[in-house]
Amino acid sequence: MIQIHTAKDIQNLMKNYRKEGKTIGFVPTMGFLHEGHMSLVEKARKDNDIVVMSIFVNPMQFGPGEDYEAYPRDIERDRQLAADGGVDVLFTPEPEEMYGQEPTVTASVKKRTAVLCGRSREGHFDGVATVLTKLFNLTSPTRVYFGMKDAQQVAVVDGLINDFFMDIELIPVETKREEDGLAKSSRNVNLRAEERQEAPALYQALQRGAELIRAGERDPEAVKREVRSILGKTSGVIDYAEIYSYPDLEMREPLTGKVIIAVAVQFSKARLIDNIIVDIPADQKEDL
Ligand code: AMP
Repeated sequence: MIQIHTAKDIQNLMKNYRKEGKTIGFVPTMGFLHEGHMSLVEKARKDNDIVVMSIFVNPMQFGPGEDYEAYPRDIERDRQLAADGGVDVLFTPEPEEMYGQEPTVTASVKKRTAVLCGRSREGHFDGVATVLTKLFNLTSPTRVYFGMKDAQQVAVVDGLINDFFMDIELIPVETKREEDGLAKSSRNVNLRAEERQEAPALYQALQRGAELIRAGERDPEAVKREVRSILGKTSGVIDYAEIYSYPDLEMREPLTGKVIIAVAVQFSKARLIDNIIVDIPADQKEDL
């Protein structure tokens, strides 16, 4: 595995791979790698000649008072995991490398951000879209891999790629979970022991919501009430528990088509998010 720190070096290397006709799978991360990240790598390896991973805790996507400083980091361990997982090129720039000068242009996301994490984390997705535009330009990917744990991010990246005519295929990858259902996340290490016991409630609440919809419930409020009542049993504070169409993230009542139930719960030192997508078959009557 080659590790690269500078924008110029990665751009040159990747351009050469493309000239040689190689396909490139790109997995952007903020590090502190776990099996969720590695499932993206595994998929990228199957689909492409070269797998490139970036590890960059992007300051622009953290708001004031968020956990930029406290975000867990362990680059030595990450390097080993990446190499063992079959990453060919690891890009680990410093913030100065990515944001050296006062910016001339930044990305501003217009849709799919007024709700969920976009609402509670102002400017978050502008930061995501800006850094991804930079990273995509540096890595010339054929395909990019994103986890559905961050389903709103997938929806935003879909918009970015389509609106800017980027010649990149977006591959969403399903959420990897612990045995008790908790979505794997770098932030899970910041849960207190009691909170870790409670955290599977997020997925339990989502499953219950999905079950209601599958059983014919089409009133989003009824589903949200049930989801919130399960989340409310934890010591965390519910940031949101919502249902929208996916990927447009619009309110739909009664529920139809592809919908997402998404939740965020703030524990003492970790904010956890999770979601589930339910496809409501067109032939199923809405008013069952
Ligand atoms: P992060 O390092 O948290 O920015 O995540 C980097 C990528 O890994 C994003 O595309 C995430 O959606 C994805 N990811 C994070 N956790 C999981 C998980 N539990 N399962 C699948 N993908 C994940």
